[in-house]
Amino acid sequence: MTLDVGVIGVGMIGQDHIRRLTHVLAGVRVAAVTDVDLDRAKSVAGALPDAQVFGDGAELIGSDDVDAVVVASIGSTHEEYVLACIAAGKPVFCEKPLATTREACDRILDAEVAAGRRLTMVGFMRRYDDGYRDMREVIASGHIGAPLLFHSAHRNPSVPDAVTSAGMVVDTCVHDIDTARYLLGAEVAAVQVAKPRRSSRAASHLQDPLVLLLEMSDGALTTVEAAVNIGYGYDIRGEVVGEIGTVALADTNRIVLRRDGGFGGRIPADWRERFVRAYDVELQAWVDAASNGRSTGPSAWDGYAATVVCDAGVEALSSGQRVPVSLRDRPALYAPEA
Ligand code: NAP
Repeated sequence: MTLDVGVIGVGMIGQDHIRRLTHVLAGVRVAAVTDVDLDRAKSVAGALPDAQVFGDGAELIGSDDVDAVVVASIGSTHEEYVLACIAAGKPVFCEKPLATTREACDRILDAEVAAGRRLTMVGFMRRYDDGYRDMREVIASGHIGAPLLFHSAHRNPSVPDAVTSAGMVVDTCVHDIDTARYLLGAEVAAVQVAKPRRSSRAASHLQDPLVLLLEMSDGALTTVEAAVNIGYGYDIRGEVVGEIGTVALADTNRIVLRRDGGFGGRIPADWRERFVRAYDVELQAWVDAASNGRSTGPSAWDGYAATVVCDAGVEALSSGQRVPVSLRDRPALYAPEA
């Protein structure tokens, strides 16, 4: 069976997902696209074998020619499209964030609970990265004892001037926040933000770097370093310290070059390069599940929790205070898999 997917939002990541749905993944084709910029949608559809262009997201979701939907439009539009997919009973892969406010995420949780089934997967692709998966397996095996600390570093070579300090929490650290929940198997209970000496490379309005301290619900601590003008490359680091051992992401090189009295390897240029395989594995998992009427991967609950923690992070950034995180009771629909 081929899953006919409609894509809403054909900007940067929308087009990248269309490329992988069309040329990399199995059992799927892009049957429809739409974008608020219809000319862009038409131009993207023109390069596909047989994709319809719809005037808006609601029409695309309602079409009998669309089995499942990828939402890759800007974050503020996600709620509307995810709710429409749930109402239509169609599986939806929603790029992060699930929605931009806690209230919007609440409405999505309520809709799925009322429908009695999970239809939403949120694009936290790090959960499909081989390194993080191996780390999680090691932690679950007990090899390092109970996890006590997770150190995460998220370094970008540079960012556009439009990026704000709050945006660093919401758009950058959101991945580290989800990774902490994924690796440690606990919720975030409180957030503090520390502001180190600013990089002279950062725009004058930007607190770069910044450090988040996340208190996890089981007492473990997570530190997140976000440094977005680091220059040397896109570098993602992570280490979990357990009672009797540690487990860390290795450098991602396939080769080590030795010459001129030194050795070294390549550091990815950006997130697309670093996580290319994770995006492929993530979307294939969604396609396989949707084709079999199942849900998989990061759920609406994970999207909700990430948005609530980011809100607390933004508050902690501006107040300088420790901000407790209060989550609603987790509906049984989102009970962790055994
Ligand atoms: P982008 O390049 O700006 O693309 C977004 C597209 O959505 C644009 O074509 C935009 O049109 C369109 N759009 C705006 N409002 C719309 C609406 N109401 N209905 C349909 N289309 C609409 O942004 P992007 O970088 O691809 O990011 C898209 C989403 O993916 C964001 O939520 C972002 O956080 C997420 N993302 C996730 C990752 C990840 O690592 N998982 C990486 C990158 C992005 P206009 O340009 O005309 O407004």
